Amino acid sequence: MSRNPRYDILFDPVKIGPVTAPNRFYQTPFASGAGQQMPHTRAGIREVRAEGGWGVVNTGYCSIHPSSDDAPLPYCRLWDDDDVKVQSLMVDAVHRHGALAGVELWHGGSGTTNKLTRITPMSVSGVSSDLSYPGWMSLSKSRPMDKQDIRDLRRWHVDAAKRAKSAGFDIVYVYAGMGFGPYQFLLPWMNKRTDEYGGSLENRVRLTREIVEDMKDAVGETCAVALRFSSDALLKVPGENLQSEAHEIISMLSDVPDLWDVKSSSWTEETRSARFSEQGAQEPINGFVKPLTGRPVVGVGRFTSPDEMVSQIKRGVLDFIGAARPSIADPFLPKKIDEGREDEIRECIGCNICVSCYHDGVPVRCTQNPTMGEEWRRGWHPDHIPPGDTETSVLIVGAGPAGLKCSRALGQRGFAVTLAEAKEELGGRINTESTLPGLATWARVRDYRTNLIQQMGNVEIYRSNQLSAQDVIDFDCDHAVIATGARWTRNILNSDGFPNAAIESDSVFTPDDILNGARIEGPVVIYDFEHYNMGSCLAELLREQGSEVTLVTTANAVSAWTFMNNELIDIRNRMIELGVSVILERQVTGFSNGKVRLASVYREGTATSDECGSLIIVGTRIGNDSLFQELKSAGMQSVRSIGDCRARGSIAHAVYSGHEYVRTMDADDSNERFEWERPRLSS
Ligand code: ADP
Ligand code: SF4
Repeated sequence: MSRNPRYDILFDPVKIGPVTAPNRFYQTPFASGAGQQMPHTRAGIREVRAEGGWGVVNTGYCSIHPSSDDAPLPYCRLWDDDDVKVQSLMVDAVHRHGALAGVELWHGGSGTTNKLTRITPMSVSGVSSDLSYPGWMSLSKSRPMDKQDIRDLRRWHVDAAKRAKSAGFDIVYVYAGMGFGPYQFLLPWMNKRTDEYGGSLENRVRLTREIVEDMKDAVGETCAVALRFSSDALLKVPGENLQSEAHEIISMLSDVPDLWDVKSSSWTEETRSARFSEQGAQEPINGFVKPLTGRPVVGVGRFTSPDEMVSQIKRGVLDFIGAARPSIADPFLPKKIDEGREDEIRECIGCNICVSCYHDGVPVRCTQNPTMGEEWRRGWHPDHIPPGDTETSVLIVGAGPAGLKCSRALGQRGFAVTLAEAKEELGGRINTESTLPGLATWARVRDYRTNLIQQMGNVEIYRSNQLSAQDVIDFDCDHAVIATGARWTRNILNSDGFPNAAIESDSVFTPDDILNGARIEGPVVIYDFEHYNMGSCLAELLREQGSEVTLVTTANAVSAWTFMNNELIDIRNRMIELGVSVILERQVTGFSNGKVRLASVYREGTATSDECGSLIIVGTRIGNDSLFQELKSAGMQSVRSIGDCRARGSIAHAVYSGHEYVRTMDADDSNERFEWERPRLSS
């Protein structure tokens, strides 16, 4: 197929200073979770995006000096010449596919805690930001920078830029955003200096200007110098001549950098999930930039629709379509548009599982793309999978995310695939969970795969087919895969924190009951000890339906795990807006006569009770594995369970499980490998 001419504009080459990007697809710097110690993993992640057609592929944040150390979070670095070799691995990988390689040079100022290097952090005036999570907090605050520190910071940028050039990078960044080093000089509430770097806006901009100019002098003949700038906070500060200080900064520095990369100052806002934001939500903070500069502008917006991308270019909002999450979910997004296969784009669902992995300090995984982070260590490619024996037959029972992913991958390998689903609709848990407020994009997990397998000649689909063990045996396939999912229980926690006693009552419900349309009497208590999003989503749903809702949780926050995927604050705000009562650090110990009994998680004997019509327990799920167990007991040789039936998890885990089965089913397949990054021992 050939490209739809409507999208031709996305494939225009664009000049960035001394280099030219082959198209407008720009993989912005994003933290891949593969830090300095994982150079092959990092190179694998970036290479596949270049192969998939992204014209510019960047690193994640790359420290220029040991005084900018973000441990335990994973970052990369260019501290010395040894680091050059590590970075050039990624540069060479990106260049192999004709893309430009960029490096996000970074000094965190007081935005880092230097726990590894133990160097006292430094910042413009010694004001430290509020890192409010225990794992990242530091008892050591930053010290104010003197003139020598400023000279050093400028020199470190230049040294790192020179190293970046020798590693082969085409674009080097100055990072004046997101609470980091030079950005702190721009902010009147952080910059309290009385010298030529403080006070007037011109003075506050001085350091950023100097660093960009220094770097252009040092490497500007061969490398483009990009300026990454956070505009949102400064858009709220009125300017002297223009609407805001953000407008003034852009017009003061207008053509000094070769490219503007404009983003939010808050990691939470930048990565806002689909539950709380739409595609293109960053336009208010980057849409004002282009008229103020002659340089190309890049911005993100969770763009997955080529029409929206074209609109951004034609309306003069952006020159480059910046992407982190859409490139994680589908590294081949540009190629698919180029080849007229845009209906095959695997769209990001905006769930932020990827964000949580970075916070965990491990390579990013993705709900939609199970190969993310596995490109090097397992040799998994996002679009290709080694062929199998076309004579081999495989039956998959259950068409949730695990069964659908498994069917698609088996079909790609060429097997004779049969997918049986008890219900008329394919999709399993997706069908109900995507109807929760804000989760409509989750249906993409189902729709992307359903669309593809329906077109595959070697995949047969049987709907409304509930299979028994005898049915599976009679089918006489070479392999059976059981993907029958899981169900929520009514179990509550005992005093040791284990969920092993169920409360049975007509007024006690599980999420499955509510999602399948059970009518409930208010007021409602939701008891959440799952800590992901189900409790707060049900609270939102029931408030919208007019019920009075109290959410009780054993944790110290609503949906406490969502600190990891950056949804926590938005969820709390949503609960406040909707008038959901919240009771933290309590567990439910019983329910009778319309009263729920509560106890503190810290001390026994502080029982309280609340009147409620209905209790919804959002706690644990158990696998629907009776079919699997029966088949094993009947002596079936090749039978495997996958997804939630095998082990309960998020949708990301179910999709991964379906994919992993297909990659590993023939374990002696020489294409299947598992590499580990190994520390280099000095001789
Ligand atoms: P997962 O997240 O692991 O993919 P889901 O719960 O989303 O699991 O999906 C499981 C699917 O399996 C559901 O659509 C359910 O209707 C289907 N299913 C369960 N038991 C059977 C069975 N015996 N025969 C066919 N389909 C089944
Ligand atoms: Fe998008 Fe979710 Fe994948 Fe992140 S994990 S890229 S938000 S689909």
